[in-house]
Amino acid sequence: MAATAPTHSAGHRYRAIKYTYDVASGSWEKEPIRVSFSRRAFQEGGMRLCFRACEYDKNGNFVECVAKVFKPELHAADHEYYDEAMTQMIAESHAQEFNRKSRTHKVALLPCNVLQIQDGRLGGSKLCALEPYLPGDYVKHNDNAGAVETNEAVPQAFSHFTYENSNRLLVVCDIQGVGDFYTDPQIHFFDGEGFGSGNLGLDGLNRFLNSHACTSVCEELRLPPLRPGETDEQMARRLQAEESKPPPSQAATSHPEDGYSSSSSSDSSWRCMRRNAGSKNLEEAMRILRFQ
Ligand SMILES: [Zn+2]
Repeated sequence: MAATAPTHSAGHRYRAIKYTYDVASGSWEKEPIRVSFSRRAFQEGGMRLCFRACEYDKNGNFVECVAKVFKPELHAADHEYYDEAMTQMIAESHAQEFNRKSRTHKVALLPCNVLQIQDGRLGGSKLCALEPYLPGDYVKHNDNAGAVETNEAVPQAFSHFTYENSNRLLVVCDIQGVGDFYTDPQIHFFDGEGFGSGNLGLDGLNRFLNSHACTSVCEELRLPPLRPGETDEQMARRLQAEESKPPPSQAATSHPEDGYSSSSSSDSSWRCMRRNAGSKNLEEAMRILRFQ
């Protein structure tokens, strides 16, 4: 934490409860903090207002942050803040796996928390998302509708990686940020459950599959070429076929046909998805995949 003055004009220090999603346990941890916000938003997107913020520790040291609130006219439900923070932390768990697999490229999702402001509001809201402030040039690489917006190899390969790393049940997209530090991702999950309003389910997965062109980084990671999107029935058939294969402890790879191993997918990611998505389809998929 820094001890110099904030780079923005920090006002009142509010009391807040900071909620952090723990992917390994699938639970939220909470801690009381002090936080200040800039008086005006410094950035405005289609859905959210972004304020500069500082998170203070007991000694008055602080970390420069960005606080994001949904625009009041959207009447966002509270769970949307938690969905988005959880999405970002799960995307980060895939980033850690990406970093273990890639020898030359590292990516990271910024840690994202939910703040419950105890003695005030920000942009009319008691809740906001809080993440570290990231200086630099902000670039959007792809969106959640299948559009590819830059030709940089790493972000596109990261999206492809998440598809294989999740046994083709999800894709992390809307890759944007500064350098290889990303923020505000979206997750398309095959049954459309959980992960916020940007989750377009199978339609979102198919949009990604139809638009992605493999890069040199995909090759380095030995990601198999993408196949046309699956219907629910085709996916169920594939998962059932995998059930008849030896479990990961006896088989080196879940995709022997392409040499790409997803058997090391983070069990913890799956456990937390199962808890949070609350879908019968998902329960069934998890049963078949033997992640219980
Ligand atoms: Zn690829």
